[in-house]
Amino acid sequence: MATSSPAPSPAASVLSGLEGICGWAADFYRGLHAHPELSHQEHATAAKVAERLGASGIEAHAGVGGTGVVGLVRNGDGPTVLLRADMDALPVAEATGLDYASHTTTTDADGNEVPVMHACGHDMHVACLLGAAHLLATDLDDWCGTLIALFQPAEETGDGARGMLDGSLADVVPTPDVALAQHVLPAPSGLVGTHAGPTLSAADSMRITLHGRGAHGSMPQAAVDPVVLAAMIVVRLQTVVARETRPGEPVVVTVGSIQAGTKSNVIPDHAVIELNVRTYSEQTRTSVLDAIHRIVDAECQASGSPKPADYELFDRFPLTSNDAETTDKVAAAFASYFGERAKPLPMQTASEDFSDIPNAFGVPYCYWGIGGIDPDAYHEAEQQGRVAQDIPVNHSAYFAPVIEPTLGTGIEAMVVAALAWLGEPNADGRQGRG
Ligand code: ZN
Ligand code: ZN
Repeated sequence: MATSSPAPSPAASVLSGLEGICGWAADFYRGLHAHPELSHQEHATAAKVAERLGASGIEAHAGVGGTGVVGLVRNGDGPTVLLRADMDALPVAEATGLDYASHTTTTDADGNEVPVMHACGHDMHVACLLGAAHLLATDLDDWCGTLIALFQPAEETGDGARGMLDGSLADVVPTPDVALAQHVLPAPSGLVGTHAGPTLSAADSMRITLHGRGAHGSMPQAAVDPVVLAAMIVVRLQTVVARETRPGEPVVVTVGSIQAGTKSNVIPDHAVIELNVRTYSEQTRTSVLDAIHRIVDAECQASGSPKPADYELFDRFPLTSNDAETTDKVAAAFASYFGERAKPLPMQTASEDFSDIPNAFGVPYCYWGIGGIDPDAYHEAEQQGRVAQDIPVNHSAYFAPVIEPTLGTGIEAMVVAALAWLGEPNADGRQGRG
């Protein structure tokens, strides 16, 4: 059999166009960074995204669940891959001093005037996904199937993915075979990392109203004191992690707010506790929330509360737990394309609502991180043992990824991971449209 040099991989072929798009992708990124919008207010961002998809010849659907946007590339028979980027910014006053820094202020959902900054790097996610979608849409000979490029609003408030699902998402897109997403992290730019299993924590906030009986501070016999009740509960809640959780299992229960009373000599009639829970398995999540209910109910009974406590759950984020088989496939594609730049991703304490989308479709997913920090600055901080002090993290007023190689790496990661499904030959062995 005659030998010739092997044909380039689909990823190498598709990504051969990367250099040609980095210019507009970087401009797009700088434009978004300078003009961030808060959760549920991503109107201008969504319009720019839809316009850019159109310029790449991609069918765009705007207004999916509010400000969500979906791009669709149908390229014959084959798998359907959903790539997701979030679009919202945070009420943070930017302090980076960059020439494309945000000076934006806006009115938040409570009517307050607040500064706005892309302090979590979602602007980078958007630019990367637009770049990846463009490269795939303009090189249809190197893959087959359907690409869904999903631009999600309101990740920071935890309800943007749910909003798109409650909107018309399932009417606009076919059910994907797999869903993929990435986040820029405070790690050296150029690196990409993922791992199978729990990756980001589930988060639950709870507001608990405790009922007592108010009385004069000098006549405690007439009262059921909610201040003492709340204090007992706060102490007892510490045992959920210390005495009910397997050592080594990461769980956080933090009581972040406790409010009762107005005056030293008045016993109030109620107290309000707000707490936050972080867990890394659905089983643990359920048992921790159950334990909180059990302890609060029992302490109320022990105090003689006139009525049971009221519970309100809010700011809830699902667990992000990468499917093992899917992640193996992504990690193998990363290792083959990125070589030494592909690393394992440590478990993160943050939370995300991305998994609501694959969970609703009942399909597996993989989530990975890309570094966003100038590699020289990172390594210098590492050598001095000052990473925690000197390297800004997401949500910091100083967090802004270096554009390159972050942007290029993020585009590459999305294309490489998508092609792990879309780039496979058809059953008859041919590559390309079925
Ligand atoms: Zn964030
Ligand atoms: Zn984020």
